[in-house]
Amino acid sequence: ESLGPTITVGEILVEIMATTIGKGFLDAQPLVGPFPSGAPAIFIDQVAKLGGQAGIIAAVGNDDFGRLNVERLRRDGADVSAIAVSSDYPTGSAFVRYADDGTRDFVYNIARSAAGEIDLNDSARALIARAGHLHVMGSALSIPAVWPIIDYALGEIKKRGGTLSLDPNMRKELAAGEETGRQFKALVAASDLLLPSGDELFVACPAASADEAINTLLASGIAEIVVKRGQHGSALHTNAGRVSRPAFLVEEIDPTGAGDCFGATYLTCRRLGHSAEQSLDYANAAGARNVTRRGPMEGTSTFPELDQFIAATPRK
Ligand code: ATP
Ligand code: MG
Repeated sequence: ESLGPTITVGEILVEIMATTIGKGFLDAQPLVGPFPSGAPAIFIDQVAKLGGQAGIIAAVGNDDFGRLNVERLRRDGADVSAIAVSSDYPTGSAFVRYADDGTRDFVYNIARSAAGEIDLNDSARALIARAGHLHVMGSALSIPAVWPIIDYALGEIKKRGGTLSLDPNMRKELAAGEETGRQFKALVAASDLLLPSGDELFVACPAASADEAINTLLASGIAEIVVKRGQHGSALHTNAGRVSRPAFLVEEIDPTGAGDCFGATYLTCRRLGHSAEQSLDYANAAGARNVTRRGPMEGTSTFPELDQFIAATPRK
């Protein structure tokens, strides 16, 4: 495993959350926020909190929504040198409301916010030049300006023996045009680690069953596939077989961000040389701990916090 920071490219957002359960935003209603958010930002914050070197290429507006995000990432130890500040566009946002069937409705302002103004500038090139691992969030592919940056970063990092992980977290509200699909396919093919949850496995590989999709993806050369299974924990699939670990028993307050914390923790543990079992346990703990806090980035964890959580929390 090559050294050098874990980096990602994509949206930094504020999240504003409905405080009542229901469908959508067609009526005036109580809201809470802004919370720092954006799947790539949550991911990189979680890597940094674990003590891993971590950086993000992104853009925010010259406003409080941007400042609150940059300050949080900086405080938690992330490299914020490649976060540009747009003078023309406001920071991106996501409004979320939970329905009683567990589904979520979002209203996004990403591609036409500062998040869409992301650019391969000198600071971005300098971060890429140091990086040892690239993590891509599928959600970031809804920003066309992200595609050439990922192409460039992937080429540079792989040339140095670095690695790629991909979380196919495509939300139904995010635009998924033909070019997004092509980019996504190329990334699946180049991935060393794939981190799908639920039906995202079939987004990565259309197949009649999960086993068939996993076997096809492993045969195509992906070394590790980790399937996130919410309250059922997670499982690693490799050519050597399957390792599965149970979830921790917690009260779910806010599920958003669990997958991002999980992926960041699994990847960081593997980069540190932990075993598959140990990495899955830490990642399950990071996901579970995150859902007990309101706000997608409010429940990111340090290793001491995870050790304490694991010691104190029963498994399902
Ligand atoms: P996201 O909502 O961030 O997209 P995801 O769908 O990618 O999440 P999940 O499977 O929901 O990913 O969550 C990731 C991991 O977090 C799970 O594998 C599990 O270990 C942990 N987790 C999530 N929800 C719960 C829960 N309610 N109880 C215990 N653990 C949970
Ligand atoms: Mg997800």
